[in-house]
Amino acid sequence: MSGVNEIRSSFLDFFARNGHEIVSSGPLVPRNDPTLMFTNAGMVQFKNVFTGLETRPYDRAVTSQKCVRAGGKHNDLDNVGYTARHHTFFEMLGNFSFGDYFKERAIELAWTLVTKEFGLPAHRLLVTVFAEDDDAFDLWKKIAGLPDERIIRIATSDNFWAMGETGPCGPCSEIFFDHGEDIPGGPPGSPDEDGDRFIEIWNLVFMQFEQVTKDERVSLPRPSIDTGMGLERIAAVLQGVHNNYDIDLFRALIGASEDATGVVAEGPHLASHRVIADHLRATSFLIADGVLPSNEGRGYVLRRIMRRAMRHAHLLGARDPLLYRLVPTLVREMGRAFPELARAEALVTETLKLEESRFRRTLSRGLGLLEEATAGMGEGATLDGSTAFKLYDTYGFPLDLTEDALRPRGIAVDTDAFKEAMARQKAEARAAWAGSGEAATETVWFGLREDLGATEFLGYDAMKAEGVV
Ligand code: ATP
Ligand code: MG
Ligand code: MG
Ligand code: MG
Repeated sequence: MSGVNEIRSSFLDFFARNGHEIVSSGPLVPRNDPTLMFTNAGMVQFKNVFTGLETRPYDRAVTSQKCVRAGGKHNDLDNVGYTARHHTFFEMLGNFSFGDYFKERAIELAWTLVTKEFGLPAHRLLVTVFAEDDDAFDLWKKIAGLPDERIIRIATSDNFWAMGETGPCGPCSEIFFDHGEDIPGGPPGSPDEDGDRFIEIWNLVFMQFEQVTKDERVSLPRPSIDTGMGLERIAAVLQGVHNNYDIDLFRALIGASEDATGVVAEGPHLASHRVIADHLRATSFLIADGVLPSNEGRGYVLRRIMRRAMRHAHLLGARDPLLYRLVPTLVREMGRAFPELARAEALVTETLKLEESRFRRTLSRGLGLLEEATAGMGEGATLDGSTAFKLYDTYGFPLDLTEDALRPRGIAVDTDAFKEAMARQKAEARAAWAGSGEAATETVWFGLREDLGATEFLGYDAMKAEGVV
């Protein structure tokens, strides 16, 4: 059985042997790209190479790219703990051709890697192609010898990739692995395709057009290739497990979480351990790439991920900061492949510890309030917006944390009312301060609130109660 680290290496080596330059992962915060919250695919660091704005000394590359999909266009946060195949942080393995080889060679390389190098049985693989892409259909038939019914034509945007409204675009072809009929889920394109029986392992994008304007599309003179394979998903297949969270790397992280909490990862506790392991990775890698928890933008996404993990630690009975204690295991497992993680170990540990100690002060009280407010509620009920807002404002519960906490019970949150309560409070607070004529204080007050967040609000109230302010 190969571990994640060996699988990553064999992917990189295979493409290096086939004339690709091994390029290191780009950072999670994309350089010079304000349009993107986090790097969410392997092609991000090559965007300008594909458009021709930038040239590199190579025209074939291979990477294992750190990705976070927890905000913006791709957001898998709500999938974690529910599907077998989604993480907030994951590694995307990819090979790239910048105007060099195209569809035929890309399919050949992919098929050789998957069936020869990795030795997957062809009868458990199936592929999708864009409905109009006859070339891809014929190539799969010729190269892989797949029967027609296992080359599925898909007409939706799932099989047509575009960089944006304009720019490079083209059809894609995805490779799926059939984990077996014991697992619920249908093949791609079927009504129950969102199940986890047929898992998408690799997406090949054939960049062959340029969208010039909304209505005009031209063929690219030098078409390109961009592919993405989830390392954790292929590891699951190669290690003979169905769920990504059962691969060696996650077993190590979950083992550390079991040791630290004394709670075995089974039954109702399993999902919590999985969420903790997932969120620990996302959190640590984001901090290592310079993101710090805050109340806006990227920092707020990080804070939300951290707090969600902390609630799960609380569910497992942890009453002291827990996540920071798992960092050494993560560094042991991944620090060699990502030296920046090892270098940032102290910063990651301290940041986690501080955020955990802060949130601990309000977490259990907030959960108490939530329990009271929802006592007697059954499936299909809705929590009122003002309680959700109080949890946010006084107890530092991001809205999605409240939603996450109620989801297993089938209780929704009135998010419109939440937003109204938020807007009302902002307006009232501003009006009150304007009325007092203390403009300077207002600036300090709102400034502090942005910096410190709702948790510190309670601290302020507490100080007031104690007569400090
Ligand atoms: P899915 O349909 O399963 O959500 P996707 O089509 O959104 O996957 P792509 O955008 O095509 O994924 O990304 C390329 C590859 O990266 C996928 O084939 C998959 O192997 C992997 N991948 C995508 N999202 C995740 C995730 N959240 N966690 C782990 N691996 C992922
Ligand atoms: Mg997806
Ligand atoms: Mg997909
Ligand atoms: Mg895909």
